[in-house]
Amino acid sequence: MNLIIKIIIGLSIIGLYLKTDLKTTNNSKKKKKPNIIFILSDDHTTNAISAYGGLYKDIAPTPNIDKIAEEGAILKNTFATNSICGPSRASILTGNYNHINGYFKNYKGGEFDNSQWTFPQELQKEGYNTALVGKWHLASEPVGFDYYKYHVSRGQQGFYWDPVYNDNGTEKKELGYATNLTTDFALEWLNNRSDNDEPFCLLLQFKAPHREWSPDKKYEELWENVELPYPITFNDDYATRELTAGNTEMTMDYFCREDMKLIPPDSLNKNETRKWLSYGFKRNEIVKLDENVSSYENKKLRFQKYIKDYLATIKSVDDNIGKVLDYLNEKNLDKNTIVIYASDQGFFIGEHGWFDKRFMYEESIRMPFIIKYPGKIKPNTINEDIITNIDFAPTILDIAGINIPVSVQGNSFLNNLTENKNENWRQSMYYHYYEYPFYHHVQPHYGIRNKRYKLIHFYYDIDVWELYDLQEDPNELKNLFYSDDHQNIVKKLKTELYNLKKEYGNELSLADMRRISETDFGGLESNKSKK
Ligand code: CA
Repeated sequence: MNLIIKIIIGLSIIGLYLKTDLKTTNNSKKKKKPNIIFILSDDHTTNAISAYGGLYKDIAPTPNIDKIAEEGAILKNTFATNSICGPSRASILTGNYNHINGYFKNYKGGEFDNSQWTFPQELQKEGYNTALVGKWHLASEPVGFDYYKYHVSRGQQGFYWDPVYNDNGTEKKELGYATNLTTDFALEWLNNRSDNDEPFCLLLQFKAPHREWSPDKKYEELWENVELPYPITFNDDYATRELTAGNTEMTMDYFCREDMKLIPPDSLNKNETRKWLSYGFKRNEIVKLDENVSSYENKKLRFQKYIKDYLATIKSVDDNIGKVLDYLNEKNLDKNTIVIYASDQGFFIGEHGWFDKRFMYEESIRMPFIIKYPGKIKPNTINEDIITNIDFAPTILDIAGINIPVSVQGNSFLNNLTENKNENWRQSMYYHYYEYPFYHHVQPHYGIRNKRYKLIHFYYDIDVWELYDLQEDPNELKNLFYSDDHQNIVKKLKTELYNLKKEYGNELSLADMRRISETDFGGLESNKSKK
């Protein structure tokens, strides 16, 4: 008996020792883990961030976003795998393509299946204190967050002014400008965190600069008497791309009265007002800002209104990022906090005469991605590897020292930044866009982009291929697919494209792909669910 008791006590002591030891290890491990602030804006093109250069870098600089790049790395070739809000967000969270995570479209796209794996859940499981503040736009409840507060109005797009948030399950209208409010709530959460020993991961997600581009009052007249410059492809005639680029609803003709900030007559009721404001959506509904000038002058006037409002909303985004950086400095959190700035995709700001995104063309698929990781990523690092939105989740896990599940299709690019090289990195990316014909009438398409070339197949109710030589034609004005001189390149790229489709497990037939475009999956913007 005595012996048995002794053994039991002995084992208990060993057990206790082991347990304590394990806990100590965990604690010390936790302390070493960096905090992560992942800032995601909506529709912010690299062409409107001064660190990336572009036409407006001196007119509308973004000093605070640039500061992150100066202290860390700027990624020049980061691409969305499906250039539209919800689907890109689903890929960011899951590290997987949309044919795996099931979220193909915004309009009639259904709800994001929140039972699947996402990186915030993994961080939370591994002891991170997690929060989401701002735009979510995935229809289903956010999972994996200790705290969330996200936009609910207008199909979760949110309002720029006096937005309604879902605050951990309770809907609440807040007074003020969304970009400022979202930042304030995020900083408030950081301030009130009860267990300050845990590392944190904050997803700070701005609604701006999404349509309808409403600036903060103080920035409404920033460039009032200035004519901002036009991109060189502003008057694109869509030659060699008539059925694709030439047949969209993304030109300056498709701004509605609300976009142009026209004031509805007082006499209208609520429904009439909504209808009045949305005039401009359809073909042959043209909003003229000046009846006395030509239609081309009107096109330019619409662009001026648009670009000024767009850049002004970004000014608030940049101000608020400055607020976050200052906060980290004040609280001595800056050395152990990684700050990432990205957007869910790019955006056209007048290139090809367009606004919006969707197309596999450069301005649309290129995402800003800027990261600072003090002590690990050298200041002023520039990276040009082909990175995509499915790589974000594994990279964030890698930063946190957490194993990446094999089901994640993306790869960590942390070494690409810390070593500034990664010999085994992919040389090309696969893209797939499904939503059609609403909104904006962009033919569903898939394609491949490598460092030099881009090959695209538009397949829904046309059968058109496009090939671009990005070195010779960076603005993608000349479709070379049907040129005799390029048939070898076409052949090579097609093989590579089919290999990528196979590798990522998307070998759907044309009929199946079309069915995805046609299916009403319900969700935020669906005829079935429209309230
Ligand atoms: Ca977006």
